[in-house]
Amino acid sequence: MIYFIGAGPGDPELITVKGMKLIQSCGVVIYAGSLVNKEILKYAKKDASIYNSASMSLDEIIDIMKEAHNKGIDVARVHTGDPTIYGAIREQMQELDGLGIPYEVIPGVSSFTAAASVLKKELTLPEVSQTIIITRAEGRTPVPQEQTLRSLSKHKATMAIFLSVQDIDKVVEDLKEGYSEDTPVAVVYKATWEDELIFEGTLKNIAEKVKENDINKTAMILIGDFLGDIKEYSKLYDAAFSHNYRKA
Ligand code: SAH
Repeated sequence: MIYFIGAGPGDPELITVKGMKLIQSCGVVIYAGSLVNKEILKYAKKDASIYNSASMSLDEIIDIMKEAHNKGIDVARVHTGDPTIYGAIREQMQELDGLGIPYEVIPGVSSFTAAASVLKKELTLPEVSQTIIITRAEGRTPVPQEQTLRSLSKHKATMAIFLSVQDIDKVVEDLKEGYSEDTPVAVVYKATWEDELIFEGTLKNIAEKVKENDINKTAMILIGDFLGDIKEYSKLYDAAFSHNYRKA
């Protein structure tokens, strides 16, 4: 069996119990070395074969999985955050389908929720934003034309922008299409890692802060009025509001 496991955002305790137990039991571990915290590898068995996929091609990864599977060895394929977000797991699963090799996916704590947690913010606020857009700026990998930052910005939703901090100037320009210049923006570098850094500002000054500090990778850009002060409290705990579990 091949297990696609979300390692979480960085802090090795932010993997799920299930993901950790599977790493403890698999004979082969293939981890995405550019982003997965190496501390996670401490969960692996002493005699496990460990591979860093950062320098490997899809074919090489699939070959290791195939070889292990043929020997009856389970494989932990460890991705950063949640594997279903920019994990490039679908192509691996499709290859495994072709080979008739079974697999499972174990979710993880994504870096966008980790970033909101370290900022001590809630991504959805009543009357402010009830929608979260997870996206990335167009770079070397294109984005479908209906999903550019410019068009998505018009919703003024909470937005979590992955993989884009290296193009912060362009990101800010595109976001100004929909958000006003004083909309709060936070950039979290390596959320939950020991060298985590937080930058807070608005569309007017965030690019400057990011560039001054040479942040050009492993950062989450969060934008939206959810970062600002709270105006409305939710109905959930409102004493005057009845719901299934509480009468007003
Ligand atoms: N599957 C991952 C995302 C992989 S894409 C997840 O769910 O988080 C890699 C991008 O994720 C990085 O460019 C960065 O934008 C973001 N990222 C990953 N780990 C991060 C962290 N600890 N702090 C901030 N951003 C992070």
